[in-house]
Amino acid sequence: MAINKYNISLGIVSAKSLKKQAVIQGVAILIVGAIIGGFGYADIEYYITELPYEIDLALYYIGSLISFIGFVYLIYGIVAKGPQPPPRTVYVPTPTPAYAPVAAPQPQPQVPRCPTCGQPLELIQQYNRWYCRTCQKYV
Ligand SMILES: [Zn+2]
Repeated sequence: MAINKYNISLGIVSAKSLKKQAVIQGVAILIVGAIIGGFGYADIEYYITELPYEIDLALYYIGSLISFIGFVYLIYGIVAKGPQPPPRTVYVPTPTPAYAPVAAPQPQPQVPRCPTCGQPLELIQQYNRWYCRTCQKYV
C-alpha cells in the first residue's frame, strides 16, 4: 500500500516538474530573445557597435522572434495539462445464448368466435359468412 501511494505521488511530481521545466525554459528563451532583440534595437538607437544597420535590424527581428517563441513556450508550460491517461474502454461482455432459441410457433390466425356460445366460427366460402356449428346458425 505504502509503495503504491509513493508511486502515484511520484508520477504527479514528475508531471509538475516537467511543466515547471517548460516554464523555466520558456522564460530563459524569452530573456535570450529579449537580450538579442534589445541589443539590436539599442545598437540602432545608440550606435554601441560598428555593426551595420541591417545586422542590427536582423538581430532585433530575430530577438523578437526568439522571445515570442519563449513566450509561447512559457504559456504552454503554464497552461498545458499533464499527460492524460488514455480514455477508459469499457468492456461489455455480450451474452452468448446457451442454446439456439427455438423459433416461436406461429400464432394461429385469429378465428372469430360465436357471440352466443363462444365456439370458433366456420367461414362458409359460398356465402362468405361465419357459421356456428354449435348454434347451427350464421352470425
Ligand atoms: Zn354458437
